[in-house]
Amino acid sequence: MSATTQTPIIPIKSSSEPPHVITPDAATVFATRAERFDQLAAGHTLSDWLHFLAAITRAQHQALQVLPPLALPAAATLALAREHRMPPLPAQSWPRDPLWRKSLLQIITGISDAAPEQARQDLARLAGYDAERIEALAERVLHTELYGDDAALLPYVAAALQVLWTAGAARLGVAEIAALDVPGVCPCCGFLPVASVVRRVGETSNLRYLHCALCNTEWNLVRVKCSSCDATEGISYRHLESGDIKMVGAVRAETCEACKSYLKIVYTEKGPVDPVADDLATLALDILVDEAGYARSGPNLLLVPGG
Ligand SMILES: [Zn+2]
Ligand SMILES: [Zn+2]
Repeated sequence: MSATTQTPIIPIKSSSEPPHVITPDAATVFATRAERFDQLAAGHTLSDWLHFLAAITRAQHQALQVLPPLALPAAATLALAREHRMPPLPAQSWPRDPLWRKSLLQIITGISDAAPEQARQDLARLAGYDAERIEALAERVLHTELYGDDAALLPYVAAALQVLWTAGAARLGVAEIAALDVPGVCPCCGFLPVASVVRRVGETSNLRYLHCALCNTEWNLVRVKCSSCDATEGISYRHLESGDIKMVGAVRAETCEACKSYLKIVYTEKGPVDPVADDLATLALDILVDEAGYARSGPNLLLVPGG
């Protein structure tokens, strides 16, 4: 059990204590990320790809704005999840609204013009798949089986699933999301974090939150602690000094000697960083820590591993 599990959920307004959980703002989360992708693309070696990711993220924003209000679990189910410290919208078992496939089609339509040739072919193939086949791809994303046949299609499927889960998290709000006994997974959906974010909340600076790779919920974790195995010894930080770096030190890799894993950490006080976009703009850092023998502990769903 971690030191954070006893922390009650405290709304920002009623206390100077930092909130344990921050749910995403559906009106801005993807729009802000799209802007950041475009900023990072300027002068970057992977400029074309980052601009395409901006287009995907903008399409996510549009799909989210037109998504009708989702049916959430019944009050009794939510109360039970809180009582047992279980995520209320578990990635692997929440009966997802088929509306998410409509979001997927909107995203495919929205990005086809901006897509490079290979991606355009992938998108056309995906658009031709029936519901059963698309749901099977969704299961692979939600079980983090991000390899094998059609792996190139998974980021688009994931983008649509992110829209659905982000809508769910935003609709639930912090009052319905309890801290879990396992600090390394999202308290809203049980998925893995994409990165950590160090930010100021109210009067308190330097707070560390893990950012969910699926639903964009953030949850507090003390600093200098491995999010994968809870170790507090043998944690170190690496960053890139040169290359496609706009702000030196704004993105670091937090490595753990105990479990040989790493996850990136982005520092919002250094500039307008985004855990998903800045992660993908610093793939050189992944290569560096990978070569040093560390394995990444949480996925970025917009990336095709090895792709
Ligand atoms: Zn989540
Ligand atoms: Zn560890």
